[in-house]
Amino acid sequence: MARQKIVAGNWKMNGSSESIDQLVVGLNAAIDNAPVEVVVAPSFPYLAQVDNLLEKSPIKMAAQNVSEQGSGAFTGEVSISMLQDFAVDYVLVGHSERRSVYGETDQVIAEKTKALLASEITPVLCIGESLEQREKNITLDVCFSQIDAVLNLVGVNAFEQVVIAYEPVWAIGTGLSASAEQAQEVHKAIREHIAKSDEVVSEKVRIIYGGSVKASSSSELFTMPDIDGALVGGASLKVEEFIGIVKSAG
Ligand code: PEP
Repeated sequence: MARQKIVAGNWKMNGSSESIDQLVVGLNAAIDNAPVEVVVAPSFPYLAQVDNLLEKSPIKMAAQNVSEQGSGAFTGEVSISMLQDFAVDYVLVGHSERRSVYGETDQVIAEKTKALLASEITPVLCIGESLEQREKNITLDVCFSQIDAVLNLVGVNAFEQVVIAYEPVWAIGTGLSASAEQAQEVHKAIREHIAKSDEVVSEKVRIIYGGSVKASSSSELFTMPDIDGALVGGASLKVEEFIGIVKSAG
């Protein structure tokens, strides 16, 4: 069975109530029944606004982070049940900025994934190597160990739900995208790695690419057999660019 492609926009800590209104109105006008899943990830304060704006839209909503804790004295954190008050379908976990700037460990990321799997919200597990790690030829070791931290906690069957976002850190926000061949090589290796635990799951798991994806380069990425979509940062803030990427995936 063909895997449905996903194009997700990670707005990061950008936007205002006004700019987000314009962005979503623009996206809604351009996307009525996209052949791929389209997802946008606003910052927490705008979830309610985007939820309202997407009421009659096929576009889905993601949160950029969540706490692994249920509730209580965790100042500044947001729980899964809070996200469930809005139409949140996906949550990014382990984005490289969460790992490097906020010190999220593989263990915490695995706990967040586990907690999400117990809800109706799909985790988008972000993994990827730094430039230094790529130059040391340990790209696959890094990706596999980031996946294994989760796999060991939740089991391989959970990867029928989990979406993996392969995002080489050197390509995020740098304008320096991995080539379609470089990305395909890693995606294929990730699928083969999961196949060691379960071949059926490895054929079902969706692996999307992230790292300076633009409308001008996305169609080549999407022709690759193991690339099931894209996680888009900067380009997702511009209606035309993001729509261009969505169209090239369809
Ligand atoms: C990201 O933040 O997940 C990302 C891929 O950003 P950009 O597209 O800007 O590189």
